[in-house]
Amino acid sequence: MTTWVTASALDRVDHHRRSEEWVAGLWRSADARLLKLGADGKFTTNPGGTRLRMTKPFVAFDSQRHRLIGLLDGTPVFAVEALTEGEVHDLREVGGHLPEAELDIAAAATAVAAWHRLEPLCPRCGGSSEVINGGFARHCTACGEDHFPRTDPAVIMAVVDADDRLLLGGQSAWGHRVSVLAGFVEAGESAEQAIHREVAEEVDVSLSELRYFGSQPWPFPRSLMLGYFARATSTAISVDTDELAHADWYTRDELSARLDAGDLALPGPASIASRLIQSWRDGHDPFTGAA
Ligand SMILES: [Zn+2]
Repeated sequence: MTTWVTASALDRVDHHRRSEEWVAGLWRSADARLLKLGADGKFTTNPGGTRLRMTKPFVAFDSQRHRLIGLLDGTPVFAVEALTEGEVHDLREVGGHLPEAELDIAAAATAVAAWHRLEPLCPRCGGSSEVINGGFARHCTACGEDHFPRTDPAVIMAVVDADDRLLLGGQSAWGHRVSVLAGFVEAGESAEQAIHREVAEEVDVSLSELRYFGSQPWPFPRSLMLGYFARATSTAISVDTDELAHADWYTRDELSARLDAGDLALPGPASIASRLIQSWRDGHDPFTGAA
């Protein structure tokens, strides 16, 4: 499974995509591939969702609808929102199963589709805008401003106490599922400040050390998850019931027993939450780097 830390195999061709003629030429090339996404952002896969299902484009290029995701080993990959047929999934469902390069394609196609759906009008003047740059920008026809897909930073933190127990909480809508805490970075705030604030707000726990773990796109609709480990200086929990239904500290053995008994479940393998929790379950010490 990808950990999102190495260079992507997907070439996003930023220096070329301003030329509509160049993009249209790629569309017409014999090996071009097209990924279809439905209005719900789900994309077509093979049966079982282990590979993307892409087809050859057979209609004329439409700069307003057809998005150049990039080149994969020289092969042009496009995406379009259209009626889908056959099996469809989103990244939450199959992100843990797709090959790394196809995961990058699916993440980019999902994110850019969400942006076009959310911001069809100019956010500066409210005027209408047209798609440019092979789908990765919009140009306002009223004020002339160019706009680019936005990403909202969010923090997600695995909080451990002095006894190496992990803090997991759940919302009432989640059923048995529990996860690490998360929240959006607010305007004018650093990621670290957001972590201290969110953990204080949600469970009233104070933190000392923070250690960066890694990041992951989460285009639902446009988050970038910044993962951290955090060391708690207090263990008393006061749950903010507007945010969480419950939260508790777990030892590794307690968590395993509850999972085996079926009365707790963890986030799916596509999420950075899953990777944070698994790193802790594997016994890695995020603060010293020791295994
Ligand atoms: Zn405008």
